[in-house]
Amino acid sequence: MDAIVKQYLQTYGISEAAQRFLSKAQKMFIGGAWVDGSDGANAEVTEPSTEGLLTHIPMGTVADLDRAVAAAREQFDSGEWSALKPAERERLLQRLADLIELNAHELAEIESIDMGKSVSQALEVDIQGTIDTFRYFAGWATKIHGRTAEPSLPGNYLAYTRKEPVGVVGIIVPWNFPLQTMAWKLGAALATGCTVVVKPAELTSLSALRFAELVQEAGIPDGVINIVTGRGSVVGAAMATHAGIDKLSFTGSTPVGITVGKTAMDQMKRLTLELGGKSAVIVREDADIKAAAQAVANGVFFNSGQVCDAGTRAYIHRSVYAQFLEELIAYTRTLKVAPGLDAECFISPLVSAQQQARVLEYIEAGKQEGAEVAYGGQAITGPGYFVEPTIFANCRNDMRIVQEEIFGPVLVTAPFDEDDEAVELANDSWFGLAAAIYSNDLGRVHSLIPRLRAGSVYVNAHSTIDPCMPFGGYKQSGFGKDLGAEQLDYLLETKAVWITLP
Ligand code: NAD
Repeated sequence: MDAIVKQYLQTYGISEAAQRFLSKAQKMFIGGAWVDGSDGANAEVTEPSTEGLLTHIPMGTVADLDRAVAAAREQFDSGEWSALKPAERERLLQRLADLIELNAHELAEIESIDMGKSVSQALEVDIQGTIDTFRYFAGWATKIHGRTAEPSLPGNYLAYTRKEPVGVVGIIVPWNFPLQTMAWKLGAALATGCTVVVKPAELTSLSALRFAELVQEAGIPDGVINIVTGRGSVVGAAMATHAGIDKLSFTGSTPVGITVGKTAMDQMKRLTLELGGKSAVIVREDADIKAAAQAVANGVFFNSGQVCDAGTRAYIHRSVYAQFLEELIAYTRTLKVAPGLDAECFISPLVSAQQQARVLEYIEAGKQEGAEVAYGGQAITGPGYFVEPTIFANCRNDMRIVQEEIFGPVLVTAPFDEDDEAVELANDSWFGLAAAIYSNDLGRVHSLIPRLRAGSVYVNAHSTIDPCMPFGGYKQSGFGKDLGAEQLDYLLETKAVWITLP
């Protein structure tokens, strides 16, 4: 660990538990054993608030993936987990949630130090969301069942359906909500009796490895959950082609999702793709403008804009546009830019130098295309991969900053005159992950909701997410759902059973 990172951890005083975890040599978790990668290769992990070396993680190989899939397959076929009494699966998932709760503070610290995010937001959102997800799906374990039918066919039959776990699930997650996104995929998979192989993002694998220690402590049988760290181009790509994986659940960018999806279809793998977004926000003239401006800022700058459903395009009624921008800027000024471990931090550094460069390149492109910088627009002098929260005014929909996913603290805004125009502007995107409407006229809101081509519509708020509601995109934001009862359908096969009776 570099001296600058040690100094940073000392300044903010992290827990002994997090210190223990960060000081040990990291290994992958396969078949209940802690192992190095088969070729011994490691990658450096950089701490984003200091740009210093934090630790190393093993870079898995295709051979490591083979071992993990074999362990998951053997476990699945044994029935130890897949045929375990549902109440026992529920008990173990609740126990896992209890352990995450007990270690929540440490997990939030690890997430903040690894990814750069605000430790307070990590605790409140990432870790609490992880606990809630396991508890919600623990409850489902005992409620999964088929139905009996009454066929009209001549003869005498007992006809019923069985819901069966799809098998071994390959899970690929991105770096913005590492533990929580993994939990979104694990909860339903485990409740249904599937076994899993997880590949965390190479930038942020640490919380998954700490989580694997809790999996062991909870008494979840070996081979149910396997974690292979490594590169997307190696381990991730091999997961998409692996004959031993029955279902692939991918969260990440749209271009990679399309590649992964095409490959997975060669083997007719079951597939969930949770991809990118460029979510639109409509602020009607009858909204509470101050409250809307604050909610819009929170909805785009949370996690420094590295949120798939961030409300990144705001269309505001022309009659309130100037007032809205004023409130928005005044509120944005109050958001504290600080290292992730600062308890007051709202705007944290971006995850990497590469992400910082990408965001700054988009800001430059926006300026070149003639968008007005109403606030921010610069990098903040380091150390740390900081970018100022940035607000563009009077944007056109054909600008790159309006059409492409930036994945940083950048909001584009433009005025509109009529609801129809707002809907047209909002839907003018390849993406369709989420949308938001701010208005006090519920009748108008209700008429707009069906017209928005987005998987989630938030009204007078942004990113109100709970495990009881499905999450997933329209259009190039992917297909399939995470969370909610709907997710179970993507982890279960339905078998139709016909018994001819005498
Ligand atoms: P990414 O697509 O680069 O990587 C995502 C994951 O895929 C990582 O684990 C990576 O290692 C792996 N990967 C990379 N190349 C691969 C390949 N060829 N084959 C298989 N796996 C491969 O995305 P990212 O930069 O890590 O994350 C940001 C993106 O994720 C954004 O587009 C964001 O919108 C999206 N995202 C979507 C959701 C959602 O629920 N829809 C949630 C979070 C993030």
